[in-house]
Amino acid sequence: HAKANGKARYEIYDARMHADTVTHMRVENDLRRAIERKEFQLYYQPILSLASNRITGFEALIRWQHPERGLMAPAEFISIAEETGLITPMGQWALREACSKLSQWQRHGLGSVPLTVNLNLSGKEFTPALLQQIKELLQEMDIAPGTLRLEITESTIMGEPESSAFLLHQLKAMGIGLQIDDFGTGYSSLSYLHQFPIDALKIDRSFVSMMSIDRENLEIIKTIVNLAHNLGMDVIAEGVEKPEELRILKQLGCEYAQGFLISRPIEADSVATLIGREADPDNHLHAGSLR
Ligand code: C2E
Ligand code: MG
Ligand code: MG
Ligand code: MG
Repeated sequence: HAKANGKARYEIYDARMHADTVTHMRVENDLRRAIERKEFQLYYQPILSLASNRITGFEALIRWQHPERGLMAPAEFISIAEETGLITPMGQWALREACSKLSQWQRHGLGSVPLTVNLNLSGKEFTPALLQQIKELLQEMDIAPGTLRLEITESTIMGEPESSAFLLHQLKAMGIGLQIDDFGTGYSSLSYLHQFPIDALKIDRSFVSMMSIDRENLEIIKTIVNLAHNLGMDVIAEGVEKPEELRILKQLGCEYAQGFLISRPIEADSVATLIGREADPDNHLHAGSLR
């Protein structure tokens, strides 16, 4: 009986592996086509400055408008793009697209200070080739210094600390803002942190969502805020969903907040409307009630 069971389990396992392989291959084929046909789109999630209560920038988040499967989130395709190397052309597209929107918004004078845009980078995209691309884009487009920001994870940096330090210093010299994404979730070597020219730490959503529930998570956030400030870095809290969380973050001296409480990621075309609405003295967006 046990043997039969074992066999059945084996078959299920095989079938699932087969299904995974098929899905993987389909996504890979579709991704190649998506790059040629430009099926990607960047959404932009507002970042709120807690000092001014204003939206001062956006994080660009990629979406794939799949012809049959509809709008797909990065979790469904980023890892396959990384494995197949397709992350390179995809990332190049995203970088150019984000810079072009940023330049356009700044030319139109949106916002009370020059708007900023954050772009996420996978480890695979963090190479010397990136430096050249960014240099060319900055020459080609009119972007205020310091307003393009790159988000990298701890594991990207700590995986290859020496080459990362080189790249980070070059980017910094070009006036690119540098932030560590999902801070607290990677294997971070705190002793390394001060050796990199990092401008800000983004506290991972998992800590923020637990902070009003348990004491320990609140202590972790306090510790990250203090660490960042002692190293001269800003702090951005991700995944803020409750007014209570926003209130505590302000109290702790966190500089920026991002999350569904403030706004979900929106399409590029809605950015001007959002910023315009924000400038309207009659609206009450900043009570923390901006959806
Ligand atoms: P991330 O950079 O940590 O981005 C934050 C994720 O949390 C986004 O998911 C965002 O939509 C979501 N989020 C924001 N506020 C809230 C909230 O209040 N509650 C909840 N539940 N979620 C919130 P998204 O857009 O699905 O992106 C997932 C990840 O994919 C990103 O995590 C980033 O690592 C990666 N990614 C996104 N765009 C790009 C890109 O252009 N290039 C690369 N290489 N990676 C990207
Ligand atoms: Mg990010
Ligand atoms: Mg993040
Ligand atoms: Mg995160």
